Amino acid sequence: MASTTDGAHDDSGDVTDERTSESALETARRQLSRAADLVDIDRNIVERLAHPKKVHEVTVPIERDDGTVEVFTGYRAQHDSVRGPYKGGLRYHPDVSRDECVGLGMWMTWKCAVMDLPFGGAKGGVAVNPKELSDEEIERLTRRFAEEVRDVIGPTLDIPAPDMGTDPQTMAWLMDAYSMQEGETIPGVVTGKPPVVGGSKGRDSAPGRSVAIIARQALEYYGKEIGETTVAIQGYGSVGSNAARLLDDWGANVVAVSDVNGGIYDPSGLDTHAIPSHHEKPEAVMNRDAPETVTNDALLELDVDVLIPAAVGNVLTTENARDVQAGLVVEGANGPTTSAADRIFADRGLPVIPDILANAGGVTVSYFEWLQDINRRAWSLQRVYDELEDEMLAAWRVVRDEFDAREVTWRDAAYIVALSRVAEAHDARGLWP
Ligand code: GLU
Repeated sequence: MASTTDGAHDDSGDVTDERTSESALETARRQLSRAADLVDIDRNIVERLAHPKKVHEVTVPIERDDGTVEVFTGYRAQHDSVRGPYKGGLRYHPDVSRDECVGLGMWMTWKCAVMDLPFGGAKGGVAVNPKELSDEEIERLTRRFAEEVRDVIGPTLDIPAPDMGTDPQTMAWLMDAYSMQEGETIPGVVTGKPPVVGGSKGRDSAPGRSVAIIARQALEYYGKEIGETTVAIQGYGSVGSNAARLLDDWGANVVAVSDVNGGIYDPSGLDTHAIPSHHEKPEAVMNRDAPETVTNDALLELDVDVLIPAAVGNVLTTENARDVQAGLVVEGANGPTTSAADRIFADRGLPVIPDILANAGGVTVSYFEWLQDINRRAWSLQRVYDELEDEMLAAWRVVRDEFDAREVTWRDAAYIVALSRVAEAHDARGLWP
């Protein structure tokens, strides 16, 4: 979808829409439009929020190991900064595009607002398949990207973090490239760094930890004992593996997990700690012995209590939304549900706990990291866990109160909280000039 002025009102979340996929920007705009109809906020502010503040597009040439030069395209979409500096991940993936960054940047604005963090929203990325580059090439790509966006990022301006295809090492290179040019070490320019250079303990596992915490709260809300719960998780990267292991530790029966090659299924429960995460050994889930294997599509339709899509976006669509048998969906990935699938789930009464709440532990511990960098004082892992738990429970309670007070979905409830806070800040600051 082009950046039309009526983007916020393009609400065609009609379940008869046969489209099975939509861009992150389309989904984000439909969600905004739907939520805006539920809260009493100035339509002019909603209109403003349907558009990013700025989108930076940069050319990133790198020397390949064979001496040739290859040119990639990178983006940094800055959506809104009314509540604080832009904040959001940096993604290395072949599907990265301007629109995807804008949509994902909008979600960061809402995610930070739901968590009541003093940040706005942004997302960036490079359209590249990192699997096709050597580590040295990825380092050169990262340093050159850092240089190209140096003027528009900064510890009080816009703070990148890991996302799909990037990790703490990527953040260390980004921080180093930025710092070398600025002439001083500036750890607060990125979060998700290795702890040895100012990263926070527990940042890596934080998105998965928050997914597990929110799944636990939702199960309790629906009166379901965690010890009697079956869980299927798509994706065994940082989010999927950490959520799986925590839920397993808390007594849940994780019966299916998958990676890009497919999944394994054991109705009596998998040993999640024995299955290597993507970080420990990439794409090794299928190497584990299990009674059954499942495709990634079939995993989404397993008869389980909780389904956690924690891989890529747009996996729950009009094609499969009627066939999802889970009693509860907790979104680990960003944007796993298309807006048309969301309507089907709402009509079916199937609760979907949205990404902007469930996986918000990542940016929350990013905020803790940023505070530690400013204060030059590291927190203990226990402190990170305790404060994350407190923040997640506080956000859960305010979203749950909206959910209880109105006839809306969980996503609507989270959007109402986020949008009200962002709109109130816009109202207080006013439009300049
Ligand atoms: N990429 C993560 C997300 O989508 C974290 C962003 C951050 O920590 O800034 O929430």
